[in-house]
Amino acid sequence: MANPVVSREIRLASRPTGWPTAENFTLAEVELPELAPDQVLVRNTLMSVDPYMRGRMDDRPSYVPPFQLGQPLDGGAIGEVVASTADAVPVGTTVLHSFGWREQVVLPAKRVQPVDTDAAPASSYLGALGMPGLTAYVGLTRIAAMQEGDVVFVSGAAGAVGSLVGQIAKRRGAARVIGSAGTAEKVRHLTEDLGYDAAFCYKDGPVLDQLRQAAPEGIDVYFDNVGGEHLDAAIESLNTFGRVAVCGLISQYNDPNPEPAVRTPWHLVAKRLSIRGFIVSDHNDLREAFLDEVAPWVRDGSLVSAETVVDGGVQAAPQAFLDLMRGANTGKMLVRF
Ligand code: NAP
Repeated sequence: MANPVVSREIRLASRPTGWPTAENFTLAEVELPELAPDQVLVRNTLMSVDPYMRGRMDDRPSYVPPFQLGQPLDGGAIGEVVASTADAVPVGTTVLHSFGWREQVVLPAKRVQPVDTDAAPASSYLGALGMPGLTAYVGLTRIAAMQEGDVVFVSGAAGAVGSLVGQIAKRRGAARVIGSAGTAEKVRHLTEDLGYDAAFCYKDGPVLDQLRQAAPEGIDVYFDNVGGEHLDAAIESLNTFGRVAVCGLISQYNDPNPEPAVRTPWHLVAKRLSIRGFIVSDHNDLREAFLDEVAPWVRDGSLVSAETVVDGGVQAAPQAFLDLMRGANTGKMLVRF
């Protein structure tokens, strides 16, 4: 490896208050160290931007530590090994790791996971076969315990997680799958490309009215990516013994003073509802079952895993993240280097 290798990275320049802006990020150059034994130099080719990164920009305790001011951000990425002192991970290997937001990185070989790009496109390991796919699977099958014949409602339905939830629910025998999303084009995508039975744009009118119209006999499962008005409407619409998997609350991530969501908590008692939040990383025991079930659908192309890929490399990442938060993506939002 010719030294010094110079890499560019995105650092957190300041913590956002409310909506993040380009000023919260800065681009910096760093010189990478020589490889020690059992290390690899990875050149990133794709990185993920994810809503949970917004939470890490705040300085508060959570399930994952906050990003540090003046330090590079991190997150899921795919790269190529371009130098290696580890026999197990030779030059040319495509790897998944968690050091996105930078062009190149030196890592211990044990921190990277080789992926099989003959079996599935590299990008799918950040999407349908990666963290978002497992999130959809865990939330639907374990947290909401979806049963055959259930009516399932999914918010954020055209995003990385939501687009998979609806498709898995249909394949597992849901009676009806309903999705909400933020544009007419996404609504079309849900019913025409992803097999949702009904869909609506939450910006077109009250969520409860539109949900009642789409599910006149109520819903049994709500997969919540959004929170707020969506969660409240779902609680109104849930049938007895209904179940909610609270995956995320994106409508509130940039709102310092969110409205309380549940206006009629008595429904929880009267309808014996279960509402359970979850974090995907607590459920790695389901990874094998998830891959056994979902990977064949990705490989044969029957499961639609849409992607919105932004070109431009590391300097394009902050804007891609800001655009994700405002709904510019259909399916998984990725940055290509
Ligand atoms: P995504 O859905 O691909 O992207 C975010 C989407 O949120 C946007 O495309 C936008 O679509 C929608 N959105 C933004 N503001 C909204 C608002 N005010 N109301 C309704 N929708 C809004 O992101 P993802 O990676 O699949 O994540 C989806 C959710 O799952 C997020 O809440 C995330 O935090 C959560 N998550 C949780 C876990 C876990 O372990 N619990 C793991 C992964 C993700 P529209 O155009 O439809 O508005």
